[in-house]
Amino acid sequence: MKLTIRISIVLMGVLLIGYLLPGAIVMPVKGARSPDWNKASFWYEPWGSSGVHKGIDIFAKKGTQIVSSTAGFVVYQGKLSKGGKVILVLGAKWRLYYYAHLDSITTESFSFVEKNQVIGSVGNSGNAAGKPAHLHYSMITMLPYVWKMTTQTQGWKKIFFLDPGKHIKQGY
Ligand SMILES: [Zn+2]
Repeated sequence: MKLTIRISIVLMGVLLIGYLLPGAIVMPVKGARSPDWNKASFWYEPWGSSGVHKGIDIFAKKGTQIVSSTAGFVVYQGKLSKGGKVILVLGAKWRLYYYAHLDSITTESFSFVEKNQVIGSVGNSGNAAGKPAHLHYSMITMLPYVWKMTTQTQGWKKIFFLDPGKHIKQGY
């Protein structure tokens, strides 16, 4: 078989496996329960320079451990002006998981993480400075879910931004 065909088959296999892996996520803040975030905070507006709030804020004591909510690959970890100390993980179903305002980061870029592996701790870095410590948590699909588009402010972005609160495994 031609090499290019063989490479294509392997790539398609990897894409398919990435898609078929279970998409269930666990609570990323150790010990947090569903009352620790406001169900109405997803897509809340007005929300500063972002316009709408494209994630949920899970409140916890500063320093509380943050675990990776899925198995995945750390695409980025570092500092951003708004997000402060952030981690971006690519997980199953070609979804990205964004953890922001961390106090500390204990994972490396371009490394694999397991579900429930500690990756950092809750803080108030970036534009959360001066506010109670919390994890800003966003879930972004790289495959656009066009049927999720709404007429809300920036509603077309809902084809990418999913409500993480609706995906966190029951029992939390
Ligand atoms: Zn937030």
